[in-house]
Amino acid sequence: MRATARPRQLDREERPRPVVEGSGRVAGPLGWDDFFASLKPLVTPATKLEREASLAAKTTMRVGGAARVYAEPASIADLQALGRAARAGQVDVFVLGRGSNLIVPDEGVEGLVLALTHATWAGFAPDGEGRVQAGAGLRLKNLCGQAAKAGLVGFEFLEGIPGSVGGALRMNAGAMGGWMFDVVEEVQLLTLAGEVRTLAKAEMHVDYRHCAELQEAIALGALLRPAAQADTDGIKRQMDAYARKRHESQPREPSAGCFFKNPPGISAGRVIDECGLKGERVGDAEVSATHANFVVNRGQATAAEVIELVRRVRARVRQVTGIVLVPEVLLFGKKWEEVL
Ligand SMILES: Cc1cc2nc3c(=O)[nH]c(=O)nc-3n(C[C@H](O)[C@H](O)[C@H](O)COP(=O)(O)OP(=O)(O)OC[C@H]3O[C@@H](n4cnc5c(N)ncnc54)[C@H](O)[C@@H]3O)c2cc1C
Repeated sequence: MRATARPRQLDREERPRPVVEGSGRVAGPLGWDDFFASLKPLVTPATKLEREASLAAKTTMRVGGAARVYAEPASIADLQALGRAARAGQVDVFVLGRGSNLIVPDEGVEGLVLALTHATWAGFAPDGEGRVQAGAGLRLKNLCGQAAKAGLVGFEFLEGIPGSVGGALRMNAGAMGGWMFDVVEEVQLLTLAGEVRTLAKAEMHVDYRHCAELQEAIALGALLRPAAQADTDGIKRQMDAYARKRHESQPREPSAGCFFKNPPGISAGRVIDECGLKGERVGDAEVSATHANFVVNRGQATAAEVIELVRRVRARVRQVTGIVLVPEVLLFGKKWEEVL
């Protein structure tokens, strides 16, 4: 159901667009079974394949349904083979990182969901010239920990962001005044055509929670340049200070982080709070009392409840202030316009 007077100003980046544009459907359940069966001979046994893989537990919000087909490719060759099969079968492909910035719809995702969780994508390799090659599947927590151990300053702001390097590149994740692309020198990616390319930061179009090139490509890894060399204890102290700050200001319940983008010069959380929405609840989805820009799952929330709550928050904020809030959190496999 759609509200009749819904605001239309949703921006272009809300949908994790399929990196391989197909028809969006494989005809009927038999179609998905056939597509799934066709993948096995194309990849090595190390690549995990699953039909109707539940995605809720693979996200921090813990809501939503299954991927029609899910794969954890174990090598670039396997990833390319999966991409070729999807193109041939006109199946949409979506990339899942640590699932910390998205909501999976209750009906699941109509496509092939790829997750770079195999160890092959989790590399951390200082290059001896002050730079670090990081795999797209490397957790930001591990990037921070290994950088601190190696005495590399500059990644501390990423401490506490529960995502992967790939997701942080796609979202240009930021915190404590720092942005992911502040520390990027180049990005290795797999294009729609299945070609591995390296793009220098200067060739990429990056914005607030947005990287245009990664809307239609899969990040494989990045060459990162830390700001400087320093002693491990000092770096850890800074990370601890940031962690304390998060601990004091953010909810503990499952969430997808800040739900809405901050309108220019305004804190979305403050606006939501001033509209009296803290504690607003639909089923088990709730506007956090700790931080109003977090929607939390109080236990058994569904994606439909989260979406209904988001609809109410946007409507109230718009009614009271005239501000149209734009979700930062992505609706996996769909556009927000389809549901808000
Ligand atoms: C408690 C909490 C705190 C948070 N704090 C912050 C914060 O301070 N700052 C901030 O910016 N964010 C924050 N977030 C949001 C989130 O953690 C970041 O956006 C993170 O970078 C997302 O990474 P991910 O791996 O989880 O990506 P996912 O959520 O899995 O995916 C996000 C998008 O990236 C795409 N993607 C993932 N991997 C790749 C890849 N390899 N190639 C191409 N596209 C890819 C997905 O398709 C999707 O479109 C927070 C979230 C939570 C739950």
